[in-house]
Amino acid sequence: MVVILKKGTSKEELERISRGIQRFGVKVSPVIGEELIILGLIGDTSKLDPKTIEANECVERVVHVQEPYKRANRMFKPHDSIIDVNGVKIGGGHFGLIAGPCSVESEDQIIGIAQAVKKSGANMLRGGAFKPRTSPYSFQGLKDEGLDLLLKAKKETGLPIVTEIMSTEYLERFVEDVDVIQVGARNMQNFELLKELGRTKKTILLKRGLSATIEELLMSAEYIMAGGNEDVILCERGIRTFETYTRNTLDISAIPVIKKLSHLPVVIDPSHSAGKWWLVEPLSKAAVAAGADGLIIEVHNDPENALCDGQQSIKPSKFDKLVDDIRLIAQAMGKTI
Ligand code: PEP
Ligand code: MN
Repeated sequence: MVVILKKGTSKEELERISRGIQRFGVKVSPVIGEELIILGLIGDTSKLDPKTIEANECVERVVHVQEPYKRANRMFKPHDSIIDVNGVKIGGGHFGLIAGPCSVESEDQIIGIAQAVKKSGANMLRGGAFKPRTSPYSFQGLKDEGLDLLLKAKKETGLPIVTEIMSTEYLERFVEDVDVIQVGARNMQNFELLKELGRTKKTILLKRGLSATIEELLMSAEYIMAGGNEDVILCERGIRTFETYTRNTLDISAIPVIKKLSHLPVVIDPSHSAGKWWLVEPLSKAAVAAGADGLIIEVHNDPENALCDGQQSIKPSKFDKLVDDIRLIAQAMGKTI
């Protein structure tokens, strides 16, 4: 159930009506927009009488919501969310260009790539320190040392860092040092992790699960947002289909669908979608043309010898050319890189 308050409702009135509802053991989650104040009611609302609530002077309407997600829903927040990561904005016309290696491998590697992608126009640096590898015998990441190296690269370039968390064990360190905490495809429905992240104030980059529907992705976002953290960026990174030529199938339609259903920014990961470096360029262009708010691209100085995902990583020179091309498409879509 959702209570829509009249325009101009005062803070005191909002608190009074919230207290009245809370007496029935229902949690009230207010979304205060520029034009509307909406109270999302969470919990068992069966004891509430919509007619009594509507009798309040400041109440416009009580709506029964079928939607399983509220805070992520565009219905209750019509305007695009703009997320600010240390001054770098994403969403609502601001384009997020995140680039860097799959994994942090050494100081020279991460700093060299960070400098190169920044020069080309990237506004955030990616790099895995904790790697979710399919085989337990594959390189698992430099872990704490990887985070230290990311911090060095941030110091050198000023780029905010985006890196994946795999368990709550490291949450404190991530909250302290990381600018955007990435939740990988394999953890999209790790609800305990999502709930913990919802208690932080960090921006979360939430990747779509390998076999997750768009609604399931939005409900995972809701887990984070229900805890009070509304800074969520959604990421389409390809889904499993019967096609085996590509690593995954990039669901381009996810961009307009998510943008219709939600106000949250959507970024596309062409690298994990394709699994092949030469597909990164056409998929990136298609994503920007379809309305993506950003891209997250794997860039490596020596892809042949990369410790992870070299076959899908582009070299800094290719990235440079790609940025020039997508800048034009982004402009045509009303976005600035
Ligand atoms: C990654 O970004 O390096 C990664 C492992 O991505 P995903 O979770 O989408 O597979
Ligand atoms: Mn990777």
